[in-house]
Amino acid sequence: MTIDLTHDPAVTELAARTAAFVDAVVAPEELRLGGVATDGGEALRVRLQEAAREAGVFAPHVAKEYGGQGLDMRGRAVVFEEAGRSLLGPLALNIAAPDEGNMHLLEAVATEEQKERYLRPLAAGSVRSSFSMTEPAPGAGSDPAALATTATPTSGGWLVNGRKWFITGADGAAYTICMARTSGRPGDRGGATMFLIDADTPGMRIVRHIDTLDQGFFGGHCEIELDDVFVSEASVLGAVDEGFAYAQVRLAPARLTHCMRWLGIARRSQEIAVARARERELFGSRLGDLGMVQAMIADSEIDIAASRLLIWQACTELDDGRSAAQSSSIAKTFVAEAVGRVVDRSLQICGALGVSGDILLSRYYREVRPFRIYDGSSETHRWAIAKRRLREGAAPAVTEEKRTVHA
Ligand SMILES: Cc1cc2nc3c(=O)[nH]c(=O)nc-3n(C[C@H](O)[C@H](O)[C@H](O)COP(=O)(O)OP(=O)(O)OC[C@H]3O[C@@H](n4cnc5c(N)ncnc54)[C@H](O)[C@@H]3O)c2cc1C
Repeated sequence: MTIDLTHDPAVTELAARTAAFVDAVVAPEELRLGGVATDGGEALRVRLQEAAREAGVFAPHVAKEYGGQGLDMRGRAVVFEEAGRSLLGPLALNIAAPDEGNMHLLEAVATEEQKERYLRPLAAGSVRSSFSMTEPAPGAGSDPAALATTATPTSGGWLVNGRKWFITGADGAAYTICMARTSGRPGDRGGATMFLIDADTPGMRIVRHIDTLDQGFFGGHCEIELDDVFVSEASVLGAVDEGFAYAQVRLAPARLTHCMRWLGIARRSQEIAVARARERELFGSRLGDLGMVQAMIADSEIDIAASRLLIWQACTELDDGRSAAQSSSIAKTFVAEAVGRVVDRSLQICGALGVSGDILLSRYYREVRPFRIYDGSSETHRWAIAKRRLREGAAPAVTEEKRTVHA
């Protein structure tokens, strides 16, 4: 496979404008808030998005007819990486999870009426959304087939019952895209349907905000109860019982866009560490002149470069209309772990300053750790990567007979 390492000049220009916008407008807000966007409230989100619109960098991923710039996955890779250099950058550009993944899904699957009602305001930043798949044990987690939330037919629609948790951004979202079982039983590989459920629908309520290591996602991570929630036929997203197939439409691109954004944070962490290594004097030399520090800086450069190329490879496959199942699993596993390593090394290079709240590294450290769990844990992906590889053909193993002949 050929991977084109060059970009359309318009994409390069947009990436440069995004970098300048993040440095001038977003990074100062991030520092002021210690990286916790929710602390700035809805007013901050609106202000940052207005500034992004003025700078011409807003919603680069959305189709032009919905006010975006229609970037393909390769274009997103370079622009999202620049936006991701600040925890607040994706929020400003309206490319933060889960909204960005939901826009992608709605563009691919929703009816024209649903696009007008749900996609258009989301793309404009007038509303936020959430995606409700995961359930407390024994429900859906790494194994989506364990889906236990049900939707049963009733007059004019469906009644949804169940419990979801870790639903990012649910507090303040205008609606959620909810996976519920419409046929079969937990453990079955099919039988799921996606529903668009407005936040004010009777029977759906946020039970609690889950206290987590990370705090950077707007609207937090919520536990949600669904108790006889009535939704009409018009709320079905796509076809009944096809929810798992649509989840795949969302998952491969969404896990890659997470990689792009977190790669931005890895770069920023390395920038902070390099600046410190240049300035700090100890043992009669600069920190950056000490070999073990140079090794950490070099290893982080290698992790960043390798991450970028794995992302671009999977993006190229998606842009070419291929599934990218294997390449996106490989990218997700590697990038989630590489980003963690880069932030960890950067923090180490900065010493006590690194773990303090005076700079943002300790916040980044907390924010990147959960990425090894969501969008498929490293273990789930490794398991899937190995299974796909084992299904491929292989050269026959050396037989006992051949070994005897050679002896
Ligand atoms: C910060 C955060 C935000 C999230 N946001 C959302 C959201 O917006 N919407 C949503 O629906 N969900 C969300 N999730 C949930 C996320 O998708 C799940 O946490 C993830 O799918 C794993 O499921 P689980 O937590 O139930 O872990 P489990 O399924 O219980 O897995 C636990 C562990 O088992 C191991 N494991 C898994 N598979 C294998 C395997 N094949 N072989 C060996 N070991 C394995 C892994 O180490 C894994 O971490 C979020 C999670 C986090 C942490």
